[in-house]
Amino acid sequence: MNVQEHDMYASFKQKLFDWFLGEKDFSDLSRVMQAVIVLLKEEFKLLEVTFYLLNPLKKIFHPEATTNRSIQSNPERYGIPFDERLKKGLDEVLVTENGDGTKTVQFSLYFSEDSLGLIRFQFPEDWFIRDEFIGKIQKDFSKIFNKIRKISQILNEEKRYEQLHRAATKIHSSMNIDDVLEEIVRTLKEVYPSFTCHLFLSHDSSTHRDLPIKLLSYENEDEHMGAMQAYVTGQIQLEDSLASKKSIIYAPIKGAQGIYGVIEMIAPTIMVLPKSEIRFISLLANTAGSALENAKLYEQSKRLVADLQLINETIHHLNTNLRFQDALQFMVEKIKTSFAAEEVGFVMIQGNERKILPGSTPFFHSRDAKAYIDFVLHRIQCSRDTLFLGDAKINVQSGVVFRSLMAVPMMRGMMKGVAIVLHREAYHFSFDMFKLLQSLIHHSTLAFTNAVLREELERMVITDRLTNLYARHYLDERIKRSMEEDGLGTFILIDIDNFKKINDTYGHQIGDEIIIQVANIIKANIRENDIGARWGGEELAVYLPKVSLNAGISIANRLVQKVREQTNPPVTISCGVSYWKKNRSDSVKELFNRADEALYTAKRTGKNRVVVQEY
Ligand code: GH3
Ligand code: MG
Ligand code: MG
Repeated sequence: MNVQEHDMYASFKQKLFDWFLGEKDFSDLSRVMQAVIVLLKEEFKLLEVTFYLLNPLKKIFHPEATTNRSIQSNPERYGIPFDERLKKGLDEVLVTENGDGTKTVQFSLYFSEDSLGLIRFQFPEDWFIRDEFIGKIQKDFSKIFNKIRKISQILNEEKRYEQLHRAATKIHSSMNIDDVLEEIVRTLKEVYPSFTCHLFLSHDSSTHRDLPIKLLSYENEDEHMGAMQAYVTGQIQLEDSLASKKSIIYAPIKGAQGIYGVIEMIAPTIMVLPKSEIRFISLLANTAGSALENAKLYEQSKRLVADLQLINETIHHLNTNLRFQDALQFMVEKIKTSFAAEEVGFVMIQGNERKILPGSTPFFHSRDAKAYIDFVLHRIQCSRDTLFLGDAKINVQSGVVFRSLMAVPMMRGMMKGVAIVLHREAYHFSFDMFKLLQSLIHHSTLAFTNAVLREELERMVITDRLTNLYARHYLDERIKRSMEEDGLGTFILIDIDNFKKINDTYGHQIGDEIIIQVANIIKANIRENDIGARWGGEELAVYLPKVSLNAGISIANRLVQKVREQTNPPVTISCGVSYWKKNRSDSVKELFNRADEALYTAKRTGKNRVVVQEY
């Protein structure tokens, strides 16, 4: 090196050192290299300098930093093909005459095995040049670039891990699946702004937010081979699509218990991602996986708690002394809201009869319900049978068609029944819902049976066994209550005429049947709110709350007429009628006594008639 070269070189080194001390951010290699080549150009009075980096996939040296404006504005056009000739001459310094007196120098820089740099510069006509001097520049530059590249790599890695840490903290801070997904997408966009990112998720995930989510399905497997592969193997997959000239990375979103989806990252061009970058992506995907898993487990546990609450609450209602029908109504309501069901029915089987329990929704009392109930009862024969249909095809004559159907048996001891849940839309109920319904019904069946039995027992206690009319004590109770709550009421005491003779003529059994016949005539001729009761022996009674005396008399007359016409062997009855009105001193006992007196008069005056005893 001569004195001039030596001075120039020393000055360059000094400036480079100053620049190095002043430079704060080495993370962006292109930017740093730009500063270095600008320095090189100025110090050695070059015309232009360009730094290239090899893209091994494309086999092209791509301009990363340059002082040439045309190259700067369109770097793609100025790539240098990495051909055999260049490969052979890599160790040499290549000097070419440009014809206009200027010369171009080109030499390569080794970084590591898989990365290779190239420097090309032009110097003017009057520039002095000696190979020895260029050799020195090449050697030192290799060292400088190598160091810068390492620093930039370390800094980048540090930055990446900072980003990862930040993302992980954020992602893990949320227990909401949608929030977690959104955060994953945000982080990917921030860290890889030039990449196009998608999340492939399996079927059961659905989000309402606007996120780049694709469905992982086996149907269009060919289209998403890489994604499927990553999902199935749990390994990161790299794919180069030569057709679209893009590299794609598939990273499985892995948690401790399973794989929840795949991150797809499409690079803007075909490129080789360094191992450190791939490691980073897979770490990010794993972070996403464990956060997603946590959120899923949390939502699942929340759902299970809600399910348990539903079951608990329902059983509690069935077990309290609430009227059974109210408890059933509560259960139907709960099922309707929890499953977004349209119709809910409880069908009990008693012998050959089926009984739609009163809390069931209106559809179950309609004609069309029969087809559904027939279908369900045909398929559900024992306590193990259940039905879960997404697209039931049941023929109905008219009206609405329910395609989603769930049915769960309720069987315990003597009790046999089934709960049916319907919706018009196909595949409306999820399997989770079905499992919950099963669990709900399973757990409520005992309470349900108890409630049914309790209600039956209560009914038996207040019902006369022979006639199925109310028992006397219940009649007493109801009249008492009515005298407290209502404004008026009419009482009819009924006695079958000459009944001793019936017994004597036909025997006691026929006598009993006559009593039943009369009881049925009474039932058929009074309204639901009226109380028909067996007073004792062959004496029956009717209490008509809120019914005036005149109306009561016509009912009594109708009964007398119907009994005369409809009994077989024919009998007649006598009726004694009494009534009460508010604001008069009266009692149940006195009401009875007045009716009894009237009845006595009826018997005395020829039977088969109605007599009223005024107050
Ligand atoms: P009257 O027209 O005066 O009422 O004449 P009666 O023969 O009906 O006389 P009364 O009402 O006093 O007699 C009731 C008889 O009805 C007495 C009893 O033998 C009979 N009897 C009472 N309870 C039953 C019953 O549960 N079954 C049957 N088969 N007979 C009954
Ligand atoms: Mg009698
Ligand atoms: Mg009698």
